[in-house]
Amino acid sequence: MNKLDAQRQKEIQQAEELLFAGPQALGFAKGLFQGRFVADWVMPYPRMPAAQQTELDKSLGELRQFLDEDLDPAEIDRRAEIPRSVIDGLGRTGVLGATAPVEYGGRGFTQMANCKLLEEIGRRCASTSVFVNAHHSIGIRALLLFGTHEQKQRWLPKLVTGEQLGAFALTEQEAGSDAANVQMQARPTDDGTHFILNGEKRYITNAAIAQVLTVMARTPVPGSDKTAVTAFLVTPDMPGFTMLEERMPKMGIRGTATGRFALRDVEVPRENILGPMGKGLKVALTVLDFGRTTFGACCTGAAKTCLRLAIEHANTRKQFNKTLGEFDLVKKKIARMAADAYAMEAMTTITASLIDRGLEDYMIETAMLKVFTTDRLWEVINDAFQIYGGSAYFVDLPLERMLRDARINQIGEGSNEVLTSFIALVGMRGPGMEFKEIYDTMMKPSRDRVSKAWTAGMNRLGAAMRVPDVPVRSEELRAQARQLGRLIWRFNFAVNRALITYREPILDMQLVQERIAGAAMDLFASTCVLSHQDSEIQLAHRNGDSAPLDHSAADLFLRQSFRRIRRFLGGLTDNDDKSLLAAADSVLGKPRR
Ligand SMILES: Cc1cc2nc3c(=O)[nH]c(=O)nc-3n(C[C@H](O)[C@H](O)[C@H](O)COP(=O)(O)OP(=O)(O)OC[C@H]3O[C@@H](n4cnc5c(N)ncnc54)[C@H](O)[C@@H]3O)c2cc1C
Repeated sequence: MNKLDAQRQKEIQQAEELLFAGPQALGFAKGLFQGRFVADWVMPYPRMPAAQQTELDKSLGELRQFLDEDLDPAEIDRRAEIPRSVIDGLGRTGVLGATAPVEYGGRGFTQMANCKLLEEIGRRCASTSVFVNAHHSIGIRALLLFGTHEQKQRWLPKLVTGEQLGAFALTEQEAGSDAANVQMQARPTDDGTHFILNGEKRYITNAAIAQVLTVMARTPVPGSDKTAVTAFLVTPDMPGFTMLEERMPKMGIRGTATGRFALRDVEVPRENILGPMGKGLKVALTVLDFGRTTFGACCTGAAKTCLRLAIEHANTRKQFNKTLGEFDLVKKKIARMAADAYAMEAMTTITASLIDRGLEDYMIETAMLKVFTTDRLWEVINDAFQIYGGSAYFVDLPLERMLRDARINQIGEGSNEVLTSFIALVGMRGPGMEFKEIYDTMMKPSRDRVSKAWTAGMNRLGAAMRVPDVPVRSEELRAQARQLGRLIWRFNFAVNRALITYREPILDMQLVQERIAGAAMDLFASTCVLSHQDSEIQLAHRNGDSAPLDHSAADLFLRQSFRRIRRFLGGLTDNDDKSLLAAADSVLGKPRR
């Protein structure tokens, strides 16, 4: 085995341990890659029980009033700071501890309810929504998920009110997208009661204003010369905690404090370890699943604001004696924005409900939500900007700020490129393992293997023979449901073909991965839209509403999404990949393949 192969095997083994340990129920996304429509997770569209909805409505009412009266997004951007009064208000309205258990002072909300709060903030101010995400979605998430009762009792009460703030510190110079490459070291003291932390973190939201930071550092693996990442609770009053830069000047979300800090021989008590020792990467990935879900909510809110602004302008601004909304090229943008905003909301709600309903593994769905909503929002803002023309360029309108603010979304919490690859590879692992079983058995038959290979073969064959049923309840949606089922069947066929054609080298073929992930994301988005539409139609039927529902935006989304899926799948065999890679290698000065 050469050095590169050995490195590849090591990476595969690490990923296997990290992502696929233990048996798991088949979720929706993994089902898609198996050619199955696991309807229970996505249909019917999730609804909150009445009592929860009432409580949420009350909180939303309070939050809206507070934001209307006290939040000034333009001022936050100008001053590059979120005022303490806003942070206090977010604490008072329960936002900073929305999903924390009531026994520790939180609201005990579900992720679905929390997403509604974040959507409301995302509509108005991205700095504030990123601040809340950094504190609540990821800053205190490891404590909420992995903390012991004693740890929660000690730390949470002040964090859920905003009296103290949280931050999540993973990124370093050498560990950006490659999160596993954390270099910060944590060495146990001789008596084992403490760990001495050394290293630097950068780009950390809230670092300079947080009193409690979840910090990832490497601890020795007992009995070996290896190290593994462990999560620690660190406080800035610990001697050796050095703030290197409190607020790195930046392009967007300027109200947030993005900082750099160093830990220099910082002694952290052993009882500050969160989760199992050496399992910090698993902790980090799980935490980020929550961050990606609320990202979806914030992007949905911002997209709705853009749509509202675009409609207002298109209906009032006149050129050539017509309002802009009378021109088809403006209509095209507005229709697409409405369709995307509908899909973003549906996808966020369903993803959040997967967490609430206890699906063990939702990492593909949260990654799909993050990539899809951040990419769509970027387009939506750009379209709104274009509709406003020159006026959008000036700071008296919010669009230039929104454009600057939205740029980080495609980079932070897992860049969209890295997540696109992740979606395809994690999704394809299930069918890939089945093909491997069949292949290995053919090469080296054995009694044990034959039965496993038989099961794998029947699974693959079953998926190839059967067009999955998409069980909508509304007659009006049956045609779209059938189309979706056929596209899932085609998707499964395409995944199988890619796996058989490319085998292990597919791990490096990002252009193939991008098409597979793109198709999977649109299949998920279409499912969420269909599910939402179905529930709205059913509700109207139950209420005896006779007026026809306007589903033009959802219908458009499905048509465009289905078209994109066909294009992604078609691109797997009809593409310019070779020329593209040759051109890139040439300008990058790499040897020809
Ligand atoms: C404003 C802001 C706030 C942040 N807040 C936090 C925080 O609170 N906590 C925290 O821990 N971190 C935070 N981050 C860090 C953020 O998560 C990282 O910036 C992100 O993970 C990307 O890492 P990087 O910037 O080092 O980019 P790199 O890893 O250097 O990547 C650069 C580009 O290369 C691409 N790339 C990298 N690897 C691959 C690959 N395998 N395949 C294809 N393309 C690839 C990426 O997509 C990216 O576009 C924040 C960053 C910013 C800018």
